[in-house]
Amino acid sequence: MAQIIDGKKISTQIKDEVKEQVAALKQKGIDVTLAVIQIGKDPASTVYVGNKKKACEYVGIRSLAYELPEETTEEKLLELIRELNDRTDVNGILVQLPLPEHIDEQAVIHAISPLKDVDAFHPVNVGKIMIGDYDFLPCTPAGIMELIASTGVDISGKQCVVIGRSNIVGKPMAMLLLQKNGTVTICHSRTKNLKELAASADILVVAIGKPKFVTADMVKEGAIVIDVGINRMEDGKLCGDVDFDSVEPKAGYITPVPGGVGPMTIAMLMKNTLHAAKLQHNLA
Ligand code: NAD
Repeated sequence: MAQIIDGKKISTQIKDEVKEQVAALKQKGIDVTLAVIQIGKDPASTVYVGNKKKACEYVGIRSLAYELPEETTEEKLLELIRELNDRTDVNGILVQLPLPEHIDEQAVIHAISPLKDVDAFHPVNVGKIMIGDYDFLPCTPAGIMELIASTGVDISGKQCVVIGRSNIVGKPMAMLLLQKNGTVTICHSRTKNLKELAASADILVVAIGKPKFVTADMVKEGAIVIDVGINRMEDGKLCGDVDFDSVEPKAGYITPVPGGVGPMTIAMLMKNTLHAAKLQHNLA
């Protein structure tokens, strides 16, 4: 039987620490502020943006919501980002992805000032992560590192397998595990021997968006299994990329969905926004 890694509890601890520091900055006259931009009304994005706003309220970060219509032009969006870059009272800027097809996602990511890039998607911040000298870490991989740390297991020398190679989860995740001296393998949709590789992992991180993809035969006895996937099933329930019921008896530690990685992502966003405010006021 695996120990369940309680992302809800750990994320609350992190948010409570952020809350204290946000209050301390307020005493100094700094009102930590996050601008959240959503284009269109994608239901999943609306839920994520709502959760981010709630977290801001909890930790005392002021959130500025920009809810723009689906037909907003790229130029208009870039103009808003430039305006927010220039505002000294705005510390972090987050553009909820995905964007409508007529907007170039990369152009938007490039437009955000690296100092306000609390998602850490800007190429400058991505590059800094590669060399291990960073201001911000992308929220989901950073949250996963906290979850792994909570187990007390040392990553150094462990076989780490990341399934999925997205820019926001898989690739930076592999880099962070490597920085902690893990022996890292990245698997993806073209990987030939995925089952064997997954089954060799002491630490297995799954981020592919395929419900219950990882089954017990793909998991090593006692492994740490981190399930990043958020899949909405026909009955409306959420389910991960890992078949929890079959894997849980075999794993050493496992994250549930919901209540695992998801709340950590938002907690780390709060942490990044606080850090952005400190950087901008030379307090970091
Ligand atoms: P993505 O959709 O950008 O990329 C999916 C990746 O999975 C690709 O690299 C692809 O090569 C790989 N893949 C697809 N099918 C595969 C297969 N059969 N075998 C091996 N690899 C395969 O992914 P993403 O944006 O990283 O999201 C992945 C999942 O994580 C989604 O369910 C998403 O909703 C979820 N997610 C959760 C959080 C969170 O906070 N919990 C954050 C980000 C993403």
